[in-house]
Amino acid sequence: MSVLEIRDLYVTVETDAGTTPILNGVTLTIRKGETHAIMGPNGSGKSTLAYTIAGHPKYNVVSGSITLDGEDVLEMEVDERARAGLFLAMQYPVEIPGVTVTNFLRTAKTAIDGEAPSIRTWTKDVKSAMQDLRMEPRFAQRNVNEGFSGGEKKRHEILQLELLKPQFAVLDETDSGLDVDALRIVSEGVNRAKEQTDLGLLLITHYTRILRYIHPDFVHVMVAGRIVEEGGPELADRLEDEGYDRFLADAAAGV
Ligand code: ADP
Ligand code: MG
Ligand code: MG
Repeated sequence: MSVLEIRDLYVTVETDAGTTPILNGVTLTIRKGETHAIMGPNGSGKSTLAYTIAGHPKYNVVSGSITLDGEDVLEMEVDERARAGLFLAMQYPVEIPGVTVTNFLRTAKTAIDGEAPSIRTWTKDVKSAMQDLRMEPRFAQRNVNEGFSGGEKKRHEILQLELLKPQFAVLDETDSGLDVDALRIVSEGVNRAKEQTDLGLLLITHYTRILRYIHPDFVHVMVAGRIVEEGGPELADRLEDEGYDRFLADAAAGV
């Protein structure tokens, strides 16, 4: 049984004001097949956690650990993390001039699997995944992220998820900027990936609406770089009603 473990993680970033602590002791265990939602107000450190798992150089791990089946993820280069089975959408946020979606996906698949996929099945898989996500076939010939709308970026993210078949995925604000129809289509893609590969999923979101489509097994509330409350899906319902005010007041009071 595969497991991604985050232990007592402290992370800082360098800003003009000097070294700023962002994560202040985050502990989280995600097993394959489980869906964990991390929710919290803006600026609480959710994306910082995602970037740290992805290996973004701006984020310094001061102490604590991230391991995948006991292997030290923090020691791995970004591409090694992908080969180890981690999917981090924010690894590739940038435009890649001259690289089409279809070539990018094939290169990524080859790098992760250690061998090129057979052309016949690959072409079929890409076509069918794109159809499921209601993507125009010609999208495959566009350059990665060049002029992509918010919705196209999200669909491209989920297309990667479905084709690369990772063990664990971190999706940060996948719901942002999507209308209801797009949210449903993208969520269905995530749910297919969950079923097909028994994916372990860390779903980061500010709003509860995506959780109506992708059902979490566990919900964690992050405030001021700490997980301050944990529960099952019912916790998301409570947050929907109550918002984050109570947690913010506790954090301000140093509880
Ligand atoms: P969230 O995703 O929960 O909204 P973030 O992780 O983006 O929160 O940000 C948490 C805090 O860390 C914020 O105060 C933000 O300004 C700060 N922060 C995050 N990344 C950087 C960075 N690269 N440089 C400076 N400050 C950052
Ligand atoms: Mg499950
Ligand atoms: Mg964020």
